[in-house]
Amino acid sequence: MNSLTLLRRFVVAVLCVAAIAGTLHAQEARPKIQVVYPREGQSLPPIDSQFVVGQALGAKSLKINGIDTRLYDSGAFLGWIPVRPGAFAIEVVAQNRAGESRFTRTIEIAKPPVETPLESLKVETDSRKPAEDVWLWPGDLLEVTCRTSPRAEVFFSLPGVAEQLPMVELSAQDRPVFRGNAFRDSTVADSSRLHGVYYGSYRVGAGERADSVRVIFTARNRVGLVARDSIGALFASDSVRFSSDSSFADLFSTDSSAGRVTILDDRFPNVAQIKDSVIVARVGPAQGYFWPFLPRGTRLEITGRKGPWYRMRAAPHQEIWVHDTSLTRLPAGFPALTGSVNFTRIDGFSDRSELRLFLTAQLPYRIDESLDPLELTISIYGATSDIDWIRYDFDDPLVQYADWRQPEPGVLQYTVRLNCDQLWGYDSYYEGSTLVVAIRKPPEEDDGLRGLSIVIDPGHSADDGSIGPTGLKEKTANLWIARKLRDLLVDRGAEVTLTREGSEDVSLYDRPRIARQAKAELFISVHNNALPDGVNPWRKHGASTYYYHPSSKALAECVQGSLLRKLEMPDFGLFRGNFAVMRPTQYPSILVECAFMIIPEHEAALKTAAFQEKVAEAIAEGVKTFVEKSLPDRKYQEAKKARERLGPGGSGRNRR
Ligand SMILES: [Zn+2]
Repeated sequence: MNSLTLLRRFVVAVLCVAAIAGTLHAQEARPKIQVVYPREGQSLPPIDSQFVVGQALGAKSLKINGIDTRLYDSGAFLGWIPVRPGAFAIEVVAQNRAGESRFTRTIEIAKPPVETPLESLKVETDSRKPAEDVWLWPGDLLEVTCRTSPRAEVFFSLPGVAEQLPMVELSAQDRPVFRGNAFRDSTVADSSRLHGVYYGSYRVGAGERADSVRVIFTARNRVGLVARDSIGALFASDSVRFSSDSSFADLFSTDSSAGRVTILDDRFPNVAQIKDSVIVARVGPAQGYFWPFLPRGTRLEITGRKGPWYRMRAAPHQEIWVHDTSLTRLPAGFPALTGSVNFTRIDGFSDRSELRLFLTAQLPYRIDESLDPLELTISIYGATSDIDWIRYDFDDPLVQYADWRQPEPGVLQYTVRLNCDQLWGYDSYYEGSTLVVAIRKPPEEDDGLRGLSIVIDPGHSADDGSIGPTGLKEKTANLWIARKLRDLLVDRGAEVTLTREGSEDVSLYDRPRIARQAKAELFISVHNNALPDGVNPWRKHGASTYYYHPSSKALAECVQGSLLRKLEMPDFGLFRGNFAVMRPTQYPSILVECAFMIIPEHEAALKTAAFQEKVAEAIAEGVKTFVEKSLPDRKYQEAKKARERLGPGGSGRNRR
């Protein structure tokens, strides 16, 4: 054994000891920490506190950034910690008898805007509006804003149109911290308010034109001078102007907007054609849904633009905003589409009443529900009424009466009042240029849920939804509850369809399609909730139910009431919410947010069959209450009997 061999043996021995020590060390099992949310590197809005969700297996105690945080049996934790703007480290320290484990997660908290110093006059980049290209018509108001030093003189110009128009400094603005929304309290401390925001406006006059022009901002401050040289050294020569006697200087800065302004030539109509028939039009750029049906091929005049959103004229006083991707611009000279209605009729079938409006062209329309009295109002844009005839179906008691009016040029309104207490949905479509609105009659079932077609939608699948502290995915919890809910509803005689049976991917827009195929009479989407960043989960949680169309509110109320009664959870609220799965009009639909994934007690409960069962029972009970309250529909049954008394009895006269 030479010295080299000896050395090798020694090295091997040392390595073995080290390896054994390592193993022993691992067997002692220090806590194992995982942070589920926020994710590594995640950017969060300018908030001052944030929740931290995760699990520390085997831990006896836990601190997050030095704050003692409760550990649950499963090791789950939900911390609520103060955060600071910029790169921010979340340090999780877990302990047990074997020792201590540490886990660091770095996130980025957006910085709230800082007030611009008095002498700076810098026009802040993110504050200059218009930020996107805008198209205006004569008569439109051009509105501009910018932020710079407080108490400055600020002007704006639209070169070639208007020069050096004064802007006014607005009263202090709330910084975007704790901005109020439906899920957050709106309390703003005075100290967090921001000065130096300026506003200006200019109404475009007839005959004025601009072609992609940027708005120029000029900010000015006058300063008294002691020594001219010192100022000269401080400021660039092109941003300081001295008075003739050098007793004062005007410091100024100029900058331009990112968005460019075009003033359209209103003498020549600018028409675009709708490319796809299922598009979403809005009341403002990227704002609320207007909910009209715009058939493919509809031609409307463009009267403005903001970024990718075009303002279109549906009628002389009706504007809608349509996204760039949904339209094709046509060469000058194309007329916008208009038409008229001269005849309407109502046909009764066993399960529905069909309104037929004979138009001369496929025009955009929207349908509004009103509840008391129950009416549907169909507004057709670009249409002029030439209606002399409304033909009723004597056998059909659902429609109490129909009437039309022309409240303004280019808007025809056709209203039907219904003889029922609950609207069970309607479908609308064009057959050629005839607009058909098929209104569902109340189901004849009067034996609870027996025979009723109910579609249950377990939320998410390709995406996980929200995630609980120990890693339970919302999509999984939703499916567990949905399956139990199906069993309960089937036991009570309903015909139930699930939009997904397992983890297969079903897109958001395929879910209503599945419901229509199943001839759904009720639609229930099952979810579990999450909170926006920066909201204290200990103060804000509970069960909530959402509806979109007014006629779905009664179902939402019954289910929310049942959830609160059975789950003994706080009331997070009954909401009108704009979710894609609830926008179809063919059936009453609701979305239920049962519990909160991030709350350790809720997550732990969601993993148990008993709680899943309890939630499913609560929803099923709510559905049952709604159905028993609504069926048989008393008003409809009375109308039916009254009609039979008047007529020859109706036997065999229903066409289907
Ligand atoms: Zn969800």
